[in-house]
Amino acid sequence: MDKNELVRLLALEDFGPVYERADQVRRENVGDEVQIRAIIEFSNICGRKCRYCGINSTNKSIIRYRMSPEEIVETARQAVSAGYRTIVLQSGEDPCFHKETMGQIVKAIKQMGAAVTLSCGELTSSELAYLKECGADRYLLKHETADPILYRKLHPCGTLEDRIECLRTIDRLGYETGSGFMIGLPGQSLKTIADDLLLLKQLHCKMAGIGPFIPHPDTPLWNEKEGSPELTKRAVALARLVLPKANLPVTTSLGVINQKEKENAFACGANVIMKKVTPDPYKEAYQIYPAKLEKTDIQKDRNLLEEQIRGLGRIPL
Ligand code: SAM
Repeated sequence: MDKNELVRLLALEDFGPVYERADQVRRENVGDEVQIRAIIEFSNICGRKCRYCGINSTNKSIIRYRMSPEEIVETARQAVSAGYRTIVLQSGEDPCFHKETMGQIVKAIKQMGAAVTLSCGELTSSELAYLKECGADRYLLKHETADPILYRKLHPCGTLEDRIECLRTIDRLGYETGSGFMIGLPGQSLKTIADDLLLLKQLHCKMAGIGPFIPHPDTPLWNEKEGSPELTKRAVALARLVLPKANLPVTTSLGVINQKEKENAFACGANVIMKKVTPDPYKEAYQIYPAKLEKTDIQKDRNLLEEQIRGLGRIPL
């Protein structure tokens, strides 16, 4: 599919047949399993000023925290004993987590038999290489938008070129590469979304997180409209057609806007879900967008999610 075809499909009046095709392609390529990943949001300290993000460094109204390496490893241990097979370690761009500290955490989690996904922003090639050697399996770094002008407007601290270069390094080093983008960013068009989808392919993505933008009250974009759940599902379905074997999560942000649409997204090509296992005092402070949070009970939450997935006729993994 080229850009024009993707734009045409995104704008279809009746998208039903595309959803059906995406669901079939998902079943044929990645089966009926839904991979459940545990995400630990281990630091909300960030040096960047991304204009949409609630933890950007200019937001002075949140309490900043940094979990200790021991707390991170202990939380991962609880998640693994609850049945999780992948631990996602996510943070702002926190300069205090040096590669050696992260490396020790990765090694400790790998010893538990779990896969490790890192999502800590842009790192240097040598940091990425070191963490790969320590055993990290995947790296998630969303390109956010494939439009370089929009990217510049939203990111006073970085360029799309640098982000893409980092993603290419991630791929070259042998990580399972994860990217993704937001739907509904102010100034985005269907052409941008088509470019986003094509960029995922160019970057050899094995994972792609596509979620709606949600305005955060303490950011410069507080007054903008949230992204459309329907357009988000369409983009996920087309990502399944563009990347048949990819791991495509149903993003948390989709559930924040509409819980039912989150469930529906499993019938549109998605096969992954991330569940927060971040301990309660920290979870509250990791609000990249406003969301209603419930108390974390790692085992109970996992059991409930497994039940919900079975209820959709799918197999929790
Ligand atoms: N620092 C890392 C990075 O930049 O990749 C990971 C943390 S960052 C908070 C994780 C993701 O949150 C971003 O890739 C972005 O897509 C998403 N995000 C941030 N603010 C958002 C918002 N207001 N609405 C929806 N998604 C948002």
